[in-house]
Amino acid sequence: MGKISVIVPCYNEQEALPHFYQEISSISKQMLEYDFEIIFVNDGSEDQTFEMITDLSVQDERVKYISFSRNFGKEAAIYAGLFYSSGDYVVIMDADLQDPPALLPEMMRAIQEEGYDSVATRRVLRKGEPLIRSFFARCFYKLMHNISRTEIADGARDYRLMTRKFVDSLLKLSEYNRFSKGLYGWIGYKTKWLEFENVERVAGETKWSFWGLFLYSIEGIVAFSTAPLAISAFTGMFFCLLAFIFIIIIIARTLMFGDPVAGWPSMVCIILFVSGIQLFCMGILGEYLAKTYLETKHRPLFICQETNIQGHNNE
Ligand code: UDP
Ligand code: MG
Repeated sequence: MGKISVIVPCYNEQEALPHFYQEISSISKQMLEYDFEIIFVNDGSEDQTFEMITDLSVQDERVKYISFSRNFGKEAAIYAGLFYSSGDYVVIMDADLQDPPALLPEMMRAIQEEGYDSVATRRVLRKGEPLIRSFFARCFYKLMHNISRTEIADGARDYRLMTRKFVDSLLKLSEYNRFSKGLYGWIGYKTKWLEFENVERVAGETKWSFWGLFLYSIEGIVAFSTAPLAISAFTGMFFCLLAFIFIIIIIARTLMFGDPVAGWPSMVCIILFVSGIQLFCMGILGEYLAKTYLETKHRPLFICQETNIQGHNNE
């Protein structure tokens, strides 16, 4: 019936990996009609993750690995996995079992029987997550919904099953600043959404700090919307208009009442406020410029140090 490639980005996942392997093995036994290929992408782990993966690959020939020369981030790991995958269907899954592999048969059914090109998942409840984090995540998705034409679903995970056609389209987008959640939406096709409740990590710790997530959200905004640029342009226009009105008022007042020297404190406030706005808008501009700068360098998204995937050994 075809082959499923399971892509698992791993960064310091030595505690979670054995659990993951056990789980995915038992799922593959339930889906005997498919061949499996499990691609572990070792994203520059500093612990025993890579040794564990190579051990698994000796025991089980379905286990493939790609090992990066350093930590390139989850987005790069996902791209590498997609690039090296050879299955007719490809699924991306976290190593910490927060993306329950048990959903896979149901996802497969949606593609086989209902004719979807991809099946995506979202968490409905952010149970077990710090409240402040959920709050900011919500705000981010609301903001994105308003300023970007690309649809990015609230609570969307990277856990997604795709057909080969979908993956090939995704690989065509080889941009350096990757924000996968938006890329999926951008390429289109028919996607079915499955919902599940948040599951806590089996072992190990999350790799995302609050600051890391904040920077990632800026990446998302800059990659999928130019609204901040428009907003800064409008702010500029608004202040010009305001200045114009003030000029007229001041001229009129001077003509009518003479010119007593006053208003120094208000002047300071205005200067500070306007120059603040100017710097802020320049910052926005700089953010886009910086992304463009990185993009024009055409650096590879990842450097593969070692892999057991045939035909890719010397890349
Ligand atoms: N991950 C990665 N590179 C990184 C950070 C994370 O490959 O630089 C992997 C990690 O090993 C895990 C997945 O991405 O399989 C999700 O990471 P995590 O569980 O820390 O994120 P969360 O589930 O908290 O969003
Ligand atoms: Mg996780």
